[in-house]
Amino acid sequence: VRRLTLPPETDAFLVTKLHNIRYLTGFTGSNAMLLLWGGTDAILYTDPRYTVQSKQQVDCKIIIATGPMAKRVVKDVARRGVSRLGFEGDQFSYAQYEGLKKQLPSRTELKPFSGTIETLRMVKDAAEIALIRTSVNTNSRALENALKRLKTGITEAEFATEIDYQSRKLGAESPAFDTIVAAGERAALPHAHPGAAKITPGMLLIDMGAFQAGYASDMTRMVHLGKATPRYRKAYKAVLEAQLAAINAIRPGVKTAAVDKAAREVLKAHGLGKEFVHSTGHGLGLEIHEPPRIGKKDKSVLKAGMAITVEPGIYIEGWGGIRIEDTVLVTETGCEILTPTPKELREI
Ligand code: ZN
Ligand code: ZN
Repeated sequence: VRRLTLPPETDAFLVTKLHNIRYLTGFTGSNAMLLLWGGTDAILYTDPRYTVQSKQQVDCKIIIATGPMAKRVVKDVARRGVSRLGFEGDQFSYAQYEGLKKQLPSRTELKPFSGTIETLRMVKDAAEIALIRTSVNTNSRALENALKRLKTGITEAEFATEIDYQSRKLGAESPAFDTIVAAGERAALPHAHPGAAKITPGMLLIDMGAFQAGYASDMTRMVHLGKATPRYRKAYKAVLEAQLAAINAIRPGVKTAAVDKAAREVLKAHGLGKEFVHSTGHGLGLEIHEPPRIGKKDKSVLKAGMAITVEPGIYIEGWGGIRIEDTVLVTETGCEILTPTPKELREI
């Protein structure tokens, strides 16, 4: 168990979000709760399906609950005389809260906290960085392997499936999100769902990510089938310039809003400010989207060890869209672009 300081004015903290439980204990099962007493004192609750697995993965006390898990948690809370129990207010349903409140001794106060573990998770340790690096490399290799099978006439869905297949073959557990393959005008939809549309000569937007050993990667690349038009070349150059400007702004101590601004200013100068409709990026790790956000109004400050994406894009209805995205690691002196896939305009 990772050593942890309890949130202020609590005697114990109940973690119910599985990604946070995995982060703190290494447990990867689909049903668990974790009760933390501060330091490395903790109890993991799970069900009989995970009797063997929990023992292999977790080094704290484990309770295999045969009935409702919350009931076992309440028993330990009462036995240890907890008067202030913290819980993840942004993860609990109203029904869960009511249920827990009803069962707890009346003198136990329930105190909600938001983003407590997520804040710790923002800065990755060396082992996590190594896993993100592996995931990013798998993702880039999967793209190259899939591109060998790209030809006009196949559907977006077929090509997205090819990407997922190549990624699994290289060691990914699953895509980190639904792979986006958007051809031509459909590239104007930032989160297009690949469908029956055939891939024809013209622009193709590919946004893909892998989960490998639990850790996410995320990359967007454009390829152009056939010769690119002058308009596409111009727009591609502008987006790449914006992406590089944002990356250039990344170093410890900088507000994430400043990174967003760097990309936005470049696109504005190219007359494409209004076409950049989303934020510049997001943190990633055990989840594909996690803090910090890299947006216009975000107040997070970059720290060495954060893994973030940089992904400005422009979207023009009736024409198409261009996005370029890398996974980037904040380092002591600046940043390192983890994604090895080149970004020069690509015609195939
Ligand atoms: Zn992406
Ligand atoms: Zn992304």
